[in-house]
Amino acid sequence: MSAPAEYLREEELDHNLIYEVASFPGGHKIFSCQQCGSCSGSCDMAQDMDYTPRKMIEMIRAGMRKEVLGANAQWLCTTCYYCTVRCPRGIEPTEVLYAVKSIGIRDRGVDPNNDSPKFYETFCDTVHKFGRQHEPTLMAIYAFKGNPLRLMGFAPLGIGMLAKGKLGLAPSRVKNVDEVRKLIDRYRNKV
Ligand code: SF4
Ligand code: SF4
Repeated sequence: MSAPAEYLREEELDHNLIYEVASFPGGHKIFSCQQCGSCSGSCDMAQDMDYTPRKMIEMIRAGMRKEVLGANAQWLCTTCYYCTVRCPRGIEPTEVLYAVKSIGIRDRGVDPNNDSPKFYETFCDTVHKFGRQHEPTLMAIYAFKGNPLRLMGFAPLGIGMLAKGKLGLAPSRVKNVDEVRKLIDRYRNKV
């Protein structure tokens, strides 16, 4: 008899996932989660996430790799750290979600319709190039990587910021840009 659709078979689970997450900074305490739900109750974004932080942690522990990497929770997290501050077990759900993002990008396990990884990668590429962020470059590259038409949507905001002197058209590099590049390269090579 086949299992109901909502259940996964043992062979569909990846029990290494939790060890991968635990190897990232701040991920090692995931084993002691007591599933109290304080993290989800503290999270302003939980209502828009397909799985709440508490549920993401349980799914990681269960080995639901495809579902975890394909979720939107890690991309909607605003890294406010409220969940981390309130966790009674000292777990850092924010860092757990960071780890899930990194693993998803590395393994190309992210939902292809999700543009957030492109945004994050473009953000890092721009900082790598200039040592700081340059929003017009960021938005132009990001738009052309996905849907160029979306530049139109950003235009009024960009024009308003330019008019108020909040944006510079020409990018400028920080003095020691190589130091910034080393930091980014070190993390990228680690992941
Ligand atoms: S608050 Fe901490 S212990 Fe409670 S469910 Fe979230 S991560 Fe687990
Ligand atoms: S850090 Fe992320 S998961 Fe935690 S409460 Fe804030 S938005 Fe929610």
